[in-house]
Parts: sequence; C-alpha cells; structure tokens
Amino acid sequence: MSLPSTVRKTSIRLADGRELIYYDDEHPDADRSMPDRRDPSRIETRSELRRDPLLDEWVAVASHRQDRTYLPPPDECPLDPSTPGRLTEIPAPDYDVVVFENRFPSLALDVDRRAGRARGPAPGQAAPDGTGQAAPDGLVPRRPGIGRCEVVCFTSDHDGALGRLPASRVRTVVDVWADRTVELGAMPGIEQVFPFENRGEEIGVTLHHPHGQIYAYPFVAPRTARQLVSAARWRAEHGGCLYCAVIDSERSARARVLGTAGGWVAFVPEAARWPFEVHLYPTRHLPDLPALDGGERDGLVAVLGDVLRRFDGLFDRPMPYMLAWHQAPVRRDRDLAHLHLEVFSIRRSATKLKYLAASESGAGVFINDVAPERAAELLREASA
Ligand SMILES: [Zn+2]
Ligand SMILES: [Zn+2]
Repeated sequence: MSLPSTVRKTSIRLADGRELIYYDDEHPDADRSMPDRRDPSRIETRSELRRDPLLDEWVAVASHRQDRTYLPPPDECPLDPSTPGRLTEIPAPDYDVVVFENRFPSLALDVDRRAGRARGPAPGQAAPDGTGQAAPDGLVPRRPGIGRCEVVCFTSDHDGALGRLPASRVRTVVDVWADRTVELGAMPGIEQVFPFENRGEEIGVTLHHPHGQIYAYPFVAPRTARQLVSAARWRAEHGGCLYCAVIDSERSARARVLGTAGGWVAFVPEAARWPFEVHLYPTRHLPDLPALDGGERDGLVAVLGDVLRRFDGLFDRPMPYMLAWHQAPVRRDRDLAHLHLEVFSIRRSATKLKYLAASESGAGVFINDVAPERAAELLREASA
C-alpha cells in the first residue's frame, strides 16, 4: 500500500521543469492547475560522486549548493504558498502537503526535461565542472551524481512543526513517505530511498518552514550497508533477524523503552551515540514504509508525535533534531533489513550542544555525555 484513497495526488511541472506534487488531504477538491509564473531559468547542477578509496565510500561533490537560499526572512520563505505579490516554489495559494524536486540538489537525474536531452556526462566522460576525467577504474572512481533530492513541506503553516501537527496530517506525511519510496525506487539507477528531516538552526537548517527531505541514492548508503553486514552475520550465527532480536531485548529490559502503540516500539538504544537518541521500530518484521498497513501507520503517527513532543518538552523549547529513516535497499538484502526510524539531537543540556569533534569526526568514535538509561528517564519525565 502506498497512498490511501483519501489523499489526492496531483503532479505538475514548475517553470524550470522540476516536478512538484500536491498531496491533498483536507482540500481534495482544490484547484491545482495554477502554473508557476516565475522565470524558468534553471540552476545548473554539477554534482559528482567520487569514491573515497580509503573508506570505500561515495562522496557527493555538489559545489552549486554553495549559493542556496540561506535563512531568508519569514516574509520571503520559498516554501510558503504563492500570493499575487510573491511567487514561491509552490504556485498554489494554499496546500496540504507538497513535494518537489530540490532547486539545489546534491544529486539529480541530470535530464533537462524542457529540452528533452540529457545534461551531464555519461560515466567515463569528462566531469561537468572540468576538474578532471571520470576514471571508472582509477584510484578515485567518479560518476555523475545521479539521483533525486526532494523537499517535503509538511504544512503550509510557516510556524508549524511536525510534532505539533494534527494526527491526520502526520498520517498524510507517513503516506507520502511511503508513496515517494515506491516512486523513487522505480526510477532508473536508484538503490536506496532515504526520507529525513533536519530541524533547527543549531544543525544547519537553512529554511525554518516545517519540511523534510528525501534523497534517492544511486548506491546503498554506508551506514545501511554496515547494518546489513551485521544483520547477515547475526542471521548466520543465530538465525532470524538482528533488529527483531534488539527489539525483544529492549522490550524485556524495559529500562530504555519510551512507549509502545499500534505495532510500534520506541526506545533509547543501549549503545546510543547522541545525548538524546530514540529508535522507533514496527514490531512486525517489515522491510520498508510501503509495507506498513493502515493500523501501523496510525501507530507510527502516535508514537512519533509523542517522541517529538517529549523532545521539545525536555528543555522547554524547540529541540534541534535529525530524523532518519532506515529502510531496505531497493534491490538487495530486502529480507535482511527491518524498517526503523532514528531521531536524535545534538542538544545535551539546556545550554550545551554536542559537536562532532575529533574523536567522532576523525576517528569515528562517539563519546556520549548522557547515559542512555538517564536519557530515557528524562524523556519519560518530559511533558508530551
Ligand atoms: Zn514558510
Ligand atoms: Zn526483524
């Protein structure tokens, strides 16, 4: 299941050829035909993937992103609906949930739809920025940054927040994540669909409007790949699913569990890296968001809303956080993966932030200043 019949989906093209999709839950009869009246000039994307030979990981180099919109004043927010005097990314005068291709993507499908011809080089051709030759067999292989980056606006209300939206709207957001997983996974060359949200200036958010993003990667992300290696090893040694074993262990220990509802469990993991980190799992062994049934989607809405409100309640102000979906890759290891959501914050006290310093960034060793059991206690005490 991807989208319930109560949500109406309308896809349009923006002036520069990018796709925009309205997902209407409250206004299924709204007119979505208004055209984008802005100048159709397109941002030239020059994203390239380079393979770091030491860590054996892809790095995306996207220098065009340096010029992206940075903390505009509230009356110039590009994610608000358009008004007669101010044209934004969304042509309609109002919307429920809207998804569109990022104007400053880290990855792009590199096709100029207006001209109907490919932009960007094929593997093995000169890199688009002229910095060198793509060398598929060299020490640092390069390929065009093929992929797709989407923006998901959760509400037209500039001052809203995912954790404070009505349950019916969060349910639409969950349905949209599932729908995008199906659609992006069917696009050529996509290997993993990664929905996420960055919230708060403290972690570098450049637009305040409540929104998330979805990256469709042309490879399996390194953290996902490493988890799947662990899951394969677990299965070989013990049989069954590693993630299911973690869920069982947390539920019987109880010390770090924050809540269970509608087929979901939320807990602070025993070896949490971040001062406040919560993982949410469906208790049924499911590969990805589209596999969730209606009851499980409603359960997620309840558990996620509770966790996000507790985050804000911890220090009595909006908590900066990152929200990251881990789901099965499009093609490989689908039976090994177990869908889950990781929500974590860099705030470790009312006045202090956790920075990824030399141990974390240089050596990959996280030092967590808050014991996971204490974090769970504080989150349970925080008002939801
Ligand atoms: Zn806004
Ligand atoms: Zn499982």
